[in-house]
Amino acid sequence: MTTGRIHSLESMGLVDGPGIRTVVFLQGCALRCRYCHNPDTWDPGAPAQTVTPAELVDRLLRYKPYYGATGGVTFSGGEPLLQPEFLAECLKRCRAAGIHTCLDTAGAGLGEYGAILAHTDLILLDVKHYDPEGYRNVIGADIGAFDRFLAAAQAAEIPLWVRHVVVPGLTDGEEHLEGLERYLQTIRRIQRVELLPYHTLGVHKYAALGIPYPLEGVEPMDPASLKGWNLRLNETCCERRSGV
Ligand code: SF4
Repeated sequence: MTTGRIHSLESMGLVDGPGIRTVVFLQGCALRCRYCHNPDTWDPGAPAQTVTPAELVDRLLRYKPYYGATGGVTFSGGEPLLQPEFLAECLKRCRAAGIHTCLDTAGAGLGEYGAILAHTDLILLDVKHYDPEGYRNVIGADIGAFDRFLAAAQAAEIPLWVRHVVVPGLTDGEEHLEGLERYLQTIRRIQRVELLPYHTLGVHKYAALGIPYPLEGVEPMDPASLKGWNLRLNETCCERRSGV
């Protein structure tokens, strides 16, 4: 049976999807976002817990009483799409056990998404930038992989919660956020938009890993400064659900 490599597990997460959730952080990410606060998840060969889907889902089932009607399990990373067989099997087993499944991804996977999306209830989609040049500037990679994942998610009609990290000098300001708004209006099934203010909580990890921090000297953002734009994007970019 396939095995997966897990960086860590958060048993009672409250910010990665609806309700109370267990968040499974998979090891490995091919992107290099300049603001990444989890560089310790990058190296797919770094020491990690190796588990089978059955072992992992047995652990997740212990927390099921806490999930209630709205919670569940979120697979995050790193980039969970880089372990597609393991991820698909875990999602399938969670679904079979009646657990709501959420995928927290930057959409930079390997291109085979059918088995994954077949068992995904909700995607937390990390939109790094809305145009290819900006994407390359922030991430150092081509936007093509993201576009392919988004097309697959749209074809599978999976609801989306969009997240976008706002970084001073990189992805902030009226012009940028207006561009983001126009882009998000081309995407269907968005239920929520979360603008995430840049913070510096992961900087110490770079020092520990001996990696230069790309955004040295950039000050954290005041979350209150994004309140207006958060409200606006949730008004102008989300599909109305009945009863909402
Ligand atoms: S996709 Fe996430 S884990 Fe990967 S480099 Fe970007 S912020 Fe870090």
